[in-house]
Amino acid sequence: MPELPEVETIKRRLAEQIVGKQISQIEVFRTKSFQGDPDQIMGQTITAVHRYAKMICFHLAERPALLIHLKMTGQLIYKDGDLKVGGGHPTSDWIGSLPSKHTRVKINFTDQTTLFFNDQRVFGWIKIIDQETLAHELRNYGPDVTDSAVTPTFLWKKFQSRKIPVKLAIMDHKLISGVGNIYANDGLNLAKIDPRRPAQSLTKTEVRDLHRALLEVINSGIALGGASIKDYLNIDGLSGGYQNVVRVYQKEGQPCPNCGHELVRIKQGGRGTFYCPNCQK
Ligand SMILES: [Zn+2]
Repeated sequence: MPELPEVETIKRRLAEQIVGKQISQIEVFRTKSFQGDPDQIMGQTITAVHRYAKMICFHLAERPALLIHLKMTGQLIYKDGDLKVGGGHPTSDWIGSLPSKHTRVKINFTDQTTLFFNDQRVFGWIKIIDQETLAHELRNYGPDVTDSAVTPTFLWKKFQSRKIPVKLAIMDHKLISGVGNIYANDGLNLAKIDPRRPAQSLTKTEVRDLHRALLEVINSGIALGGASIKDYLNIDGLSGGYQNVVRVYQKEGQPCPNCGHELVRIKQGGRGTFYCPNCQK
């Protein structure tokens, strides 16, 4: 599943291309993937592209807006002639011709350019959403980890009522949004904090170190265009480079970047946790 840096990257890449474009046609190939009546937004111009948690929102000149969640296997690929820009789950659709058998929605613009929403497993969605419903939807999410409202003090206060392991606390999107598995693992290693520690056991100094480390790995992810683990790593406009600087994620048996000790893998909340039993206290 794409994490904050990947979704932020897609948002930035698309914003450069589609702001100001006018929607001329929406083709829905799979009804489950598009909620709402396409006619409602026909002819509208995209005025802004925002990210909320891991969702992307296209704001339209006349309301409502289009909200998109890529979930496990979604992709957004903008195509203008030979140019392809966007990202999401890496598959052969990145390099093959479009639409593909995974194309669920095709948004055509008046200048003959196109945005494809591909989704192998059909968990992702696009929906037409009014401002009120959007605000309601966002109430389920804590502030973004990159938001200035998330300070070390904010985190420390939130941790006080939580006995759960600190790794699960930072990945709880009701507490803070945007920390997925890759960056949670790497942030804890950079801060030298044991992911199994109860969140409430962290000192104020440790929370400050963790906050700084999370911002460092996530900002590095954004700067590198996110991570593209698996195939299709070097495709301009679609892939990212964070996988080349990953600290611990999926690196069990390899040396810790802090101390050289062998990294181990355990399971927490059904997800893989990778950490150094020597320096992460
Ligand atoms: Zn170590």
